[in-house]
Amino acid sequence: MPRPSSRSPRKPPDVSPHDPDASLTTYRQKRDFRKSPEPTGRSPSKPAKQRFFCVQKHLASHLHYDFRLEHRGVLLSWAIPKGPSLDPSIKRLAMHVEDHPKDYGTFEGVIPSGYGAGIVVLWDRGVWQPLVEDVDAALRRGNLPFLLLGEKLGGAWTLIRSGRVGPNAWLLIKRRDQWSRSSEITLEQPLSVASAGDFPEILARERSNPWPHTPPVLGGETGALFRDILAQAATLRSPQVVKRGAKPRKTRIRQK
Ligand code: MN
Repeated sequence: MPRPSSRSPRKPPDVSPHDPDASLTTYRQKRDFRKSPEPTGRSPSKPAKQRFFCVQKHLASHLHYDFRLEHRGVLLSWAIPKGPSLDPSIKRLAMHVEDHPKDYGTFEGVIPSGYGAGIVVLWDRGVWQPLVEDVDAALRRGNLPFLLLGEKLGGAWTLIRSGRVGPNAWLLIKRRDQWSRSSEITLEQPLSVASAGDFPEILARERSNPWPHTPPVLGGETGALFRDILAQAATLRSPQVVKRGAKPRKTRIRQK
């Protein structure tokens, strides 16, 4: 199928292409890699024996969870405003977005400006397995059953195209099994699987506040969240805290 070369807001997201590099066009068009620390996806990823998946908690214009499944060398991506739920009675809206490069799956950090400006926490990672032979056909059909084996999420799930709020709206639903629970996993286990921190700790890793004048969002709940996280990061960054939190250096021996 020929891909449209021009951008239009109604264009469906790049989906499971035969040429992985071509499917990253939208991803690259949205970003200025001179200003963003996010991966460019220029180095081709080798086909893996096991399929990687990850969930990135992303505070940007709104808090959401980016759910990514490796397929054909790229990461199929859905943005889930409320995050995944282990409760089989809960259907979470998942907006299908453009494919991301495979190496995006390890990204955690601050996007200072531009598209997605905010903070990314690597919230879960692991492997996934489709419960159908043909993933592309399942995506076209709008019904993808699969298994997850992550650090937080596991068991059987289904992504179903909803169509109610446009062509890119899907629902992520947990299937009943030994992994299903009625509690909210996003609240129970908020921390990163890579650094054990949350938004403030990841922001505090930056030498200084990347938004000294205006945070990416000012108003509403998201604005309040940014202000709170900025204040916490400033405390974590303060010299006193650094001194108290610093590891003893006694054991370090200088060679020269
Ligand atoms: Mn995002």
